[in-house]
Amino acid sequence: MKIESRLAQIGSVSEPVTGAVSFPVYQATAFRHPRLGESTGFDYSRTKSPTRKVLEDASAQLESGDAGFACSSGMAALQTIFALFGQGDHLIVSLDLYGGTYRLLEQIMSRFGVSASYVDTNDIDAMSSLCRPNTKAVLIETPTNPLMMITDIERVSAWAKSKGLLTIVDNTLLTPYLQRPIELGADIVVHSATKYLGGHNDVLAGLIVTKGKELSDKMAFLHNSIGAVLGPQDSWLLMRGLKTLALRMDRHQENATRLANWLLEHEAVEDVYYPALPHHPGHDIQNRQSSGNTGIFSFRLKDARYVEPILRHIQLIAFAESLGGVESLMTYPAVQTHADIPEEIRRQVGVDDRLLRFSVGIEHADDLIADLAQALEAAKRETGEAQ
Ligand SMILES: *Cc1c(COP(=O)(O)O)cnc(C)c1O
Repeated sequence: MKIESRLAQIGSVSEPVTGAVSFPVYQATAFRHPRLGESTGFDYSRTKSPTRKVLEDASAQLESGDAGFACSSGMAALQTIFALFGQGDHLIVSLDLYGGTYRLLEQIMSRFGVSASYVDTNDIDAMSSLCRPNTKAVLIETPTNPLMMITDIERVSAWAKSKGLLTIVDNTLLTPYLQRPIELGADIVVHSATKYLGGHNDVLAGLIVTKGKELSDKMAFLHNSIGAVLGPQDSWLLMRGLKTLALRMDRHQENATRLANWLLEHEAVEDVYYPALPHHPGHDIQNRQSSGNTGIFSFRLKDARYVEPILRHIQLIAFAESLGGVESLMTYPAVQTHADIPEEIRRQVGVDDRLLRFSVGIEHADDLIADLAQALEAAKRETGEAQ
């Protein structure tokens, strides 16, 4: 069955008693045992809960994995994955990394003796030289955020396999509708489901999908032992969001492509970072390993003085963090999402004071262009007056 059909039908055929087309929210933490030594399959909801299970099984299937785990946030999912590692272990990680993941590694996992090296994950030589006997895994984001750098998942996971390392892919920006890392050789996929999977800027959630029985069993143990699991109501909201994922992603990328091309032509804009644009360095790899593009991109202004007035004048587009929802949001990575990344690394990857990130929603592209046009015009006027 095609992925669009599987998405629309999540939970629709799983409720055997009433036949409810929308799977119910089982707001229960405890489940009666029929008798000693017997279980309905559900005992206590941290371990397994009916609404969450439908979501988890659907996620595993969508990502072509063997098991899915719903967590209370993307960070909770990453922490659960990082608990696979311990004292003395080392990870190789994408240089242009989500700020919260960097903070978790550098300020928390480091205290448990887990270290990380940050590298351009297309540079296999650089990765090989960083690889030590205690290196356990490679963690990649592709595209990265905010600079939209692309990593060849198949190439990296083949290299990782040859070194005995696990490959973990943060697939938040593309979702399984557009990219399925496990089919390309990855062992673990992680999502901030808060973003495109939920899709409405209204539910905080994370997902883990694992490939292979041993890894899936280990993750089930960690998921239950750590307990950062997703509640039934939020599991339901996430399934509700997933049903329209295909439609939303189609519209997100259509809008983002129009907006990116419009900005690229604008006199105030130096460059636009979006893999759908032919001049993007990751364009070809992205086209090969994914069936489409995400709905976010970044652009660099020629003049840093434009940033403040643009963020003050946008009206339809909200000045807010996060990404992946139906509403358009714009953010300033250097002082917001990436504030915890040291300036040296930020400069190295290009997150500077002229860079804005745009999560393009599903509004009409004409209205988004009109909003940006008036904000850029106001910025030009005010900057001119200030001189
Ligand atoms: C938002 C985000 C996270 C963290 O997820 P939360 O749901 O906010 O905890 C991790 N990785 C990426 C790529 C993200 O965009």
